[in-house]
Amino acid sequence: MSASVSWTDRDVLAARPPREIVSIDEPYAALVEDERTAAGTVEPVATLFLTNRECPFRCVYCDLWKHTTTDRVPVGAIPRQIDAALSRLPQARHIKLYNSGNFFDAQAIPPEDHPAIAERVRTYKTVIVENHPRLCGSACRDFRQRLSGEFEIAMGLESVHPDVLPRLNKRMTVDDFRRAAGELREVDIHVRTFLLLNPPWLEPDSWVEWALRGLETAIDAGSRVCTVIPVRAGNGAMELLAQRGEWFPPRLEMLEEVMETALGWNRARVFVDVWDAGRLFGEDGETRQRVERLAQANMTQVFERWMPLR
Ligand code: SF4
Repeated sequence: MSASVSWTDRDVLAARPPREIVSIDEPYAALVEDERTAAGTVEPVATLFLTNRECPFRCVYCDLWKHTTTDRVPVGAIPRQIDAALSRLPQARHIKLYNSGNFFDAQAIPPEDHPAIAERVRTYKTVIVENHPRLCGSACRDFRQRLSGEFEIAMGLESVHPDVLPRLNKRMTVDDFRRAAGELREVDIHVRTFLLLNPPWLEPDSWVEWALRGLETAIDAGSRVCTVIPVRAGNGAMELLAQRGEWFPPRLEMLEEVMETALGWNRARVFVDVWDAGRLFGEDGETRQRVERLAQANMTQVFERWMPLR
């Protein structure tokens, strides 16, 4: 892979297209979809994509800032967003409160709102939020104590490659992740982990190996569920890196190989992100069937790679 200087916050910001127009009165998206649970059942999970202030980190591959505000939302806005979404959504047993950043970033989700938020979700079997490993602290435990069911925090480990992770501009180390996961497990908070299939600065013939190493690291640290995410273009930075030959779009067969190998370990739930797969991998009949097999494997946790009859 060709060498280049590391990306700074300024580089990431300069590459961006404009952000979307959002309203602080409602989540920018909300849906209910099935997910395989820790108990081995498949149950409906509500996901609310809350509208709030942009994450303070500037990860090179991230496009979540597109649906955020530049200012902190007022106290009361997040509980109102939850009410608006839940009044429209079908019933679900579990709920994800994803905020395009870090739930325990006080500039994103006002801590004054934590009691009202917990009150609205406390009876769900599982409440799942996302957070940066370096922003995990006593507030996580305090929020956990407000809930009746399980609490799970999703953290991005992204890549354990020693040269790639520092260059992603996530400002964390693998040890930061391990430390956060260990501290969360000590207070009965479950860990979910996100890993990238094809980060920049990694040759495609290393994607599978490093995704699997990342999964092993996450599971060893106590993560009970992991999702492997193909990096997509669309945030400006990835387009520039692609032009320079420093990043390549994802390949379906590699996502399949990661899924097959990781499920063979039978150590934790492993999901692959097949959102917008048509744009990523193509729309032909065989590709659609292969993507559908991966989506099924997310539910069954059983996967055999596609073997064409020819
Ligand atoms: S920490 Fe998460 S939300 Fe923030 S920039 Fe990085 S990937 Fe995006």
